Amino acid sequence: MKRVHRYKRTGRMISALTALAVLFALFIPSFCSAGREALTVGVPTDRCPIFYVDRETGEIEGIGAELMKMAAERAGYDVTFKALGEESLKDALDNGDYDLVMPFGSAISSTSGQESIVSDNLFQTPFTLVTEEDEKPKSLNDLRIGMLRSLRGAVETVQQLYPGVTIRLYDNMDKCVTAMREGEVDALLHNSYVWSYILQKPLFSKLTMQTSAMITMDFRAGTVDTPESREIIERLNEGIAMISDTHRQAVILDYTTRRLYVYDFSDYLHEYGLVALLFVCLLITVILIVIERHQTMRLRQEEEMRRLIDQDPLTGALSLHGFRNRVEELLREHPDVPYVLVYGNIRNFKYINDSLGREAGDELLRFWVKLLKDSLREDEVVGRLNADRIAIFHHADGMDKLDWYDRTVINPVRNYFMDRGKEIRVQVCGGIYILTPEDYREINVDQMLDYGHLAEKRMRSIHGDGYGFYNQEQWEKGRRIAEVINHLPKAIESGDLKVWYQPQVDCATGEITGAEALCRWDHEKLGWLYPPAFIDTLEESGMIYDLDRFVWDRVCQDLKRWNEEGYHRSVSVNVSRRDLREDRDIPAHFKELTRKYGLTPDQIRIEITETAFVEKPEHLISTTKKLQEYGFEVEMDDFGSGHSSLHMLKEVPVDRIKLDLHFLTASGDPEKGRIIIRHMIQMVRDLGMRMITEGVETEEQAQFLRNKGCSEMQGYWFHKPMPVEDFEKLFTGQEK
Ligand code: C2E
Ligand code: MG
Ligand code: MG
Repeated sequence: MKRVHRYKRTGRMISALTALAVLFALFIPSFCSAGREALTVGVPTDRCPIFYVDRETGEIEGIGAELMKMAAERAGYDVTFKALGEESLKDALDNGDYDLVMPFGSAISSTSGQESIVSDNLFQTPFTLVTEEDEKPKSLNDLRIGMLRSLRGAVETVQQLYPGVTIRLYDNMDKCVTAMREGEVDALLHNSYVWSYILQKPLFSKLTMQTSAMITMDFRAGTVDTPESREIIERLNEGIAMISDTHRQAVILDYTTRRLYVYDFSDYLHEYGLVALLFVCLLITVILIVIERHQTMRLRQEEEMRRLIDQDPLTGALSLHGFRNRVEELLREHPDVPYVLVYGNIRNFKYINDSLGREAGDELLRFWVKLLKDSLREDEVVGRLNADRIAIFHHADGMDKLDWYDRTVINPVRNYFMDRGKEIRVQVCGGIYILTPEDYREINVDQMLDYGHLAEKRMRSIHGDGYGFYNQEQWEKGRRIAEVINHLPKAIESGDLKVWYQPQVDCATGEITGAEALCRWDHEKLGWLYPPAFIDTLEESGMIYDLDRFVWDRVCQDLKRWNEEGYHRSVSVNVSRRDLREDRDIPAHFKELTRKYGLTPDQIRIEITETAFVEKPEHLISTTKKLQEYGFEVEMDDFGSGHSSLHMLKEVPVDRIKLDLHFLTASGDPEKGRIIIRHMIQMVRDLGMRMITEGVETEEQAQFLRNKGCSEMQGYWFHKPMPVEDFEKLFTGQEK
């Protein structure tokens, strides 16, 4: 129990002592500073490590501050440092806010002219010259020296010591160094302790302290001379005297060995600029590579996605989407290629799947597509629309291609399982859609597929198998066009193209006055072809000029032969309105023909259809005039065919009008037709032109025309067009 009591008593004592200690600790500083007088000292702050503002505490610190604090405390003052706002110490002396101002080497008068007093020396500050690396300064007396403007106070001291020295002042250290580097000054002078701080800056690392050229200066506090300030200085001097040298050295050592310099951005740039540049380049390169890789990857992914959307993974054909796009592309790229779309379907595909398994069905589709792909050109395409529906888009190459396709693709597909020993015949149905010019103008692939599908369905319901057309007529027409265009050169060469003659007669005398040359084609595949079957096609394809030149040449050969036999005949030849292009000199061509075959121009009569005159009046009028100049007769063919303008008769200088009876008698009131013809004959005669009527089929028509004054006629009533040998027989009996 006793022991417990003793412990309690000891505990209470410890607590009391601790509380006392805390109280002491809290109040001792105020005890100490209590009774001390406050002293405000103005100091510069740009002289690390002598005076500077601590980054963390914001307090002014440094060797000067520390020593001043020591001296003032010992003299019974409590010091507060204040950063100098004035430009110079002289100005600061006039500011009554400071009790003291630092540092002074000696007493100077203030800007307003007041005398000052200074304290004893706080410590001796060495001043050192700094030069560029490897530069040995001459004697200080002959030098041009750069100093900070804020050290103006020290300038006087230096000049007293070295009267020969020239001193230039600069606002900051950067300007000082630049001036030295540019040769404005030989060296820079500053406090050695401050140098040790400044030279830590990488930009100044090449500067060298010339310790041999060192001068020392006092470091004092000063103030304007008043009785009060004298008292402060006296007390302060007592405090200064109390600081031992050891203390001073310790403070100096402490601050000069601290790493006080902090790198700013320009220092980092100078120190690590090259490395940073390399790093930035590397970083940019890496970023560019990453972006490039990313883009390539994205493109590849997009391509892959497109491939997946556009391709049928089972067969390797295009998907419906891909097929649609590719067909649109082909039509835009090749608007001149005639295409067909074939829609194929396997009728018994479900049965094949059910009985032989899906894999067998897939195999069949793959086989079909492979055969197609092997046979297609680059600008043809195959697509799998769904299940067993295959669409093919290829050139419309005619029946031969279809036969070939049936043999090399469809038959092997039909017999696919039979060839592999299974008793199933594949039923392939197809619908063919031949593209029309409209399909090239307004591309609608879905509609083409619908047409193909429709034809396929029709074929399936009627025959169960095989291929059918959606637009058979189109196919026939296309085939005919191809046959005509492709075979014309061969027909001209081989003699399949013939010139027949239809005699023209004088109805009054029955005499043959001439003939019209009309071409006939003994086509090797299509049999005898008459002009309406191919003239339009040749006109559209631009090949009519080849045919016409052949006919004209053949006519001239015949005329020459007849001339040689003593028969001087005249023949009318047709000139297509397509021949009459501005860049072709038709008159010159005919002139050359007559020269070549030794004919007279009256032997060739040139028929130009009335419609041609309507289309290009100016050019035709000048051509007509030229032809007449050369002595040829020009006839206006098919007059009355419906487009004629009476005004034309006045403008166009033709020699003969060829009235087409067919146009005037085919329909309408025959009596009115007769009245028109009668007046036309009269009018043409009054205009001073000659007239021939073609298409005369009956005696009655011939009689009527003769009565009305038109005696020259051409028509079945007299003669049908006939081969040259037959025509020759007709006139060889006549007078030469
Ligand atoms: P076109 O120049 O008006 O020729 C007259 C057409 O009328 C010929 O038809 C002729 O056979 C036909 N014809 C003659 N008499 C009668 C008749 O009494 N009744 C009926 N119904 N028809 C008759 P074809 O030979 O079929 O020629 C038709 C058209 O083809 C020609 O009309 C001409 O425009 C063109 N053509 C014929 N041969 C050539 C040629 O070598 N070059 C060019 N550019 N066109 C030609
Ligand atoms: Mg004619
Ligand atoms: Mg005619």
